[in-house]
Amino acid sequence: MMLAAAVTAEAPASADPHIVAVRISSWGPCPAASDREARAHGLMERVFHRAGLRVGVQEFRVPGHGRSRNVIGVYDTPRTCLRIVMAHTDSAPGAPGANDNASGLGVVAALAGRLTRIDPRCDVWLVATGAEERVYTGSPDHLGALALARRARSHGARRRLRWALSLDEVGRDRPFWLRSPASAVRPTVERALLDAGSRVHVPLRWVRDESSGNSDHREFELLGLPAAKLGVGAGGEPCRHMACDRPSRLDPKSLMLARRMTAAALRAH
Ligand SMILES: [Zn+2]
Repeated sequence: MMLAAAVTAEAPASADPHIVAVRISSWGPCPAASDREARAHGLMERVFHRAGLRVGVQEFRVPGHGRSRNVIGVYDTPRTCLRIVMAHTDSAPGAPGANDNASGLGVVAALAGRLTRIDPRCDVWLVATGAEERVYTGSPDHLGALALARRARSHGARRRLRWALSLDEVGRDRPFWLRSPASAVRPTVERALLDAGSRVHVPLRWVRDESSGNSDHREFELLGLPAAKLGVGAGGEPCRHMACDRPSRLDPKSLMLARRMTAAALRAH
């Protein structure tokens, strides 16, 4: 009994996805390269450190706005395969960004402290990306994802990467949609993610992206790396990029289901 208690006490406290998402979105809008975006990145960096991950910060330019970054927490396993779970940290100006996308950050934070328990079958990169919102950056690309996908490629992603999953708007409206620009469900990408959902009773449906996709998975796919997005379902997000995307709209159950589905996908062979 004493030993079990000691082990529990030493295990990193896993963050509650709802508490993290409410906290970040209560700070107000977090446009790319702003001080608030940096503050949210700082919080995620502390969460990754506390969880015992190896933390890297990848800086990049946001033309006309300044500098942003990706905060990357690495969990190594004896295997060479790699899975990436990412969520964008910035919001549109004027939008507190509770669902878009403090919800995704909350789930990433919750996963960080649980990785030992999840026992992932591949190396994991958890990433709080920057500068996703193209309505603000004016860039054709999601800039953080572009930098991250290039970094993954230089770390052998063509050979190692099973999938990169963007969590974007996972804080309400279920069943979730899994989205990707693939022409059909691929066995090792969409099928693997859908199966993970059904194993833990998280309803999920694949819906092909219109064109190249509107979240951080897009830049991976454009580089030929497998990726998808988990996000809002058929109801869409009526408060996307608006002042009404407030913390009170977040549904703790949705966040818990997104966390559970992603954990199952990381655990899978
Ligand atoms: Zn988003």
